[in-house]
Amino acid sequence: MSRKQKKLFIRILAATGLFVIALLLPLGSWSWYIELILYLVPYLVIGYPVLKKATINIMSGQIFDENFLMAIATLGALAIGEYPEAVFVLLFYEVGELFESLAVGKSRRSITSLMDLRPEVATVVRGGVECEVSPEEVSVGETLLIRPGERVPLDGTVTYGSSSINTVALTGESAPRDVMAGDTVLSGCINGQSPLHVCVTKRYEESTASRILALVEESTANKARSEAFITRFAKYYTPFVVFAAAAVAVIPSLFDGNWAQWIYRALSFLVISCPCALVISVPLSYFAGIGAASKNGILIKGSQYLERLASCRTAVFDKTGTLTEGTFRVKAIRPRKATEEELLRLAASAEAYSNHPIALSVKAAYGEREVILPTAVEEKAGLGIKAEIEEKCYYVGNARLMAEVGIICPAVSEIGTVLHLSEEERYLGCLVIADTVKEGSKDALLALKRDGVRKTVMLTGDTSAVAEAVAGDLPIDTVISELLPDGKVAEVERLLKEDARGGLMFVGDGINDAPVLARADVGVAMGALGSDAAIEAADVVIMDDDLRRLGKAVAIARKTNGIVLQNIMFSLAVKGLVLLLSAFGVCGMWVAVFADVGVMVLAVLNALRALK
Ligand code: ADP
Ligand code: MG
Repeated sequence: MSRKQKKLFIRILAATGLFVIALLLPLGSWSWYIELILYLVPYLVIGYPVLKKATINIMSGQIFDENFLMAIATLGALAIGEYPEAVFVLLFYEVGELFESLAVGKSRRSITSLMDLRPEVATVVRGGVECEVSPEEVSVGETLLIRPGERVPLDGTVTYGSSSINTVALTGESAPRDVMAGDTVLSGCINGQSPLHVCVTKRYEESTASRILALVEESTANKARSEAFITRFAKYYTPFVVFAAAAVAVIPSLFDGNWAQWIYRALSFLVISCPCALVISVPLSYFAGIGAASKNGILIKGSQYLERLASCRTAVFDKTGTLTEGTFRVKAIRPRKATEEELLRLAASAEAYSNHPIALSVKAAYGEREVILPTAVEEKAGLGIKAEIEEKCYYVGNARLMAEVGIICPAVSEIGTVLHLSEEERYLGCLVIADTVKEGSKDALLALKRDGVRKTVMLTGDTSAVAEAVAGDLPIDTVISELLPDGKVAEVERLLKEDARGGLMFVGDGINDAPVLARADVGVAMGALGSDAAIEAADVVIMDDDLRRLGKAVAIARKTNGIVLQNIMFSLAVKGLVLLLSAFGVCGMWVAVFADVGVMVLAVLNALRALK
């Protein structure tokens, strides 16, 4: 229990004691004001915070909330002489508050502990001596010792040792990954069987674990539509209830003159009308859903994205690195004015600073051999690279890029992405590279179609021949090829207009598609571990590059939305019923409070199902 919860608990005990004493004393023998004072003491002990909050709200113009309802209901009960009733209602209300704060606190803790990536200490080797320091104190370039079973505290590169690393906390993927000298390790992962020396590359605040935690913490600040709905709802609902209660108190009394009875019924009506169950359970459901997703390696940046993910009718995919592996194999080299070897070396050199999947693959094909680092490079998104190497200007990219320098490219017979090379306007030849469709892409698309996605679209900057070849193997409805990054934005905008109600998700790898990620209703970045731009631009981040996790994300979103809807319906139904019963005098204020707390407890328990 926190200090606040302990204080509340003590207040409840004290008020209960005083209340029982007042009940046990033989009251009939005293005058009414002694009786009133005897009950007023426990009433104020327990009810003081509610009265205070209600007063503050009235002063600041936000009259109608549950504190206001509780305050007038119980003050009214005191006014008509129902003293024990007034104390009991407040007592029970506060017991409910205590329970709620315990349950919410517990579930928040259990959700955040799932995502507990934060290491407590880091072991740094300083001057040959191992010392334990807090991770914030480690600077870039220092060497960390990570023992078997320890969590990696900061991002870095392995300098000594080899081991297997468990990335489950980051990616949800439980198969360990082997690392050795030269490989990158990310904070939050757990080291396997043997010790590693790691050279730190990022400070603690910029390391993966801290950034992910910061995002998750911010995510709850972004409210979903259902949450906003509850706030708006309360704004109309509460005044309505207050006027309805006034009507119950006044109108029948004008006919039968039984003021005390009707005022009492109106007061019970007020108590039951508190929308506590909704106010608490809706945000909690979303929080639990976000927690469940992050356990599966899916980071969702706010409850509104979780909500929208469930209702997307159009799914738009980028090709390279999203539907395909993004690791190209060099299929053919077609030299014109250079040797094969030269062509490959020039391409690898020009791509030296790029991290586009094509660049990475060309560099991999060239292998360990020396490249000539360019003195100036310009990466033209969707076209290719312009690089200055040894004082000559080279172009590496698609036919469109060649057209910019006035070269008409020769036809190539192989199907694949063609990488043309030129020195100024002198055409040197081309490489044909090919990519393969990812293993899970087909299953992922089928799962999405089962879960309500009606239209799947593939956008690519590649040629239509390659695009058709990739889409041929997949359940893709529409293929649009030869697009520049701004063409992708325009295409997404057109699709958004076409089906304005349905919701559109765009799934990309975060490499030159950040504007599209931002424009879509839900932008999903794949394989984003370590790619900062994608993590910034996307609304949903899939930590590794398995597209099947997207289906999982949609399933979690649908389940969470279902739970939210159940809670809204259930609470409104029970409230409606008890409201009616209390207006007709079938049940009193005590039952009203029981029903209110009961509904809230059930709603909170239901919300926690979203975690599973
Ligand atoms: P996709 O839409 O498939 O993800 P991009 O929009 O990233 O592809 O790129 C489209 C095309 O632009 C590629 O097929 C390639 O021909 C060319 N291109 C882009 N970046 C590079 C690069 N770094 N090197 C060579 N060609 C590139
Ligand atoms: Mg791309």
